[in-house]
Amino acid sequence: ERERLRLPPWLKREIPMGKEFSKLKEDLRGLNLHTVCEEARCPNIGECWGGNEDNVSTATIMLMGDTCTRGCRFCSVKTSRKPPPLDANEPVNTATAITKWGLDYVVLTSVDRDDIDDGGSAHIAETVIELKKQNSAILVECLVPDFRGNEDSVKTVALSGLDVFAHNIETVEALTPRVRDPRAKYRQSLAVLTHAKTVKPDLITKSSIMLGLGETDEEILQTMKDLRSAGVDCLTLGQYMQPTKRHLKVVEYITPEKYQHWEEVGKSLGFSYTASGPLVRSSYRAGEFFLKNLLQ
Ligand code: SF4
Ligand code: SF4
Repeated sequence: ERERLRLPPWLKREIPMGKEFSKLKEDLRGLNLHTVCEEARCPNIGECWGGNEDNVSTATIMLMGDTCTRGCRFCSVKTSRKPPPLDANEPVNTATAITKWGLDYVVLTSVDRDDIDDGGSAHIAETVIELKKQNSAILVECLVPDFRGNEDSVKTVALSGLDVFAHNIETVEALTPRVRDPRAKYRQSLAVLTHAKTVKPDLITKSSIMLGLGETDEEILQTMKDLRSAGVDCLTLGQYMQPTKRHLKVVEYITPEKYQHWEEVGKSLGFSYTASGPLVRSSYRAGEFFLKNLLQ
C-alpha cells in the first residue's frame, strides 16, 4: 500500500477571520441553517463569507438532509439506501433563513436522492422560487445531482429562476468509475449540463474538476474541452483532499504554478471564468466571480 503523501506548504492555511466574516457568523446563530462551509470546515470561509476585496458574500447550503443514496469514493457524506423523507417545509424555512442572513450569493447543494422519483428536483426548484420571492436581488446557484440523467428533473431546476446551474463532472473520464459512485457517469454528467443549456440557452452553467487523483494532463485538457462542448460557462479546478483513511488516496499534490497554467488554458478555451488553485472548491468566491465576469 502506498504511503500517504506529505501535505505541501501551500495547503496549510489558517482560516482568516475578517470583520464581515465575524458578522455573518454572528448572524447565523439562531437561524437553524446548515452551511457546508462550516460543516466541512472549508478553509475558504473567510474569503467566501465576505472577507474578499469586494465584500461579496457567498455561502453553500445543503438541502435534502445529510444522508446520500450514493457513495462516491472521495466524499465523506453518510450513505443509506433509504434516507429519511424530505422535509416539506425545508424550501420555505431555508429561504427565510437565507434572506434574514443577508447573503449576496447562495449555492444550494444537496445529497443525491435516487430514492425519490424526481431526485428532489421539485424540492430544489421550490427553494429557488421561494428565495427569489423573498429577495429578488439574491443570486442563486444550484449545484445539483445528475438526477440519473432524467431530463425533466434537469428542466425543473433549469427553469426555476436560478442564476447559475452547476453540476460537477468531478474527474476525467477514465477515472470516473473508480472515483464516483457507479451510478454517476461521465457522459451522463455532460448530458445534464448540455440539457440545462438546451432548455434555457441564456442560463449560466458551471462545473468542477478535482485534481490529484492520478489523471494525466491530456485527460484534464480533454475534460475541459468536453465541458466547453457541453456549453459550460464557468469552471473550477482544485486539489482533491482525502477526507478519511477509508477514502481514495491523494496520488499527487498539484503545484500552484500548475493551477495557474490550467487557469490560462481555461481562458483560452473560452470559459467566462476559470477559478483554479489548490484550495479552490466549486463554490469558491462564487458571488465575486459572478459579479466580475458575468454581469455586463
Ligand atoms: Fe463555503 Fe464553498 Fe466558499 Fe468553502 S468554497 S467557504 S464551501 S462557499
Ligand atoms: Fe457525496 Fe454527492 Fe457522491 Fe453523494 S453523490 S456521495 S453527496 S459526492
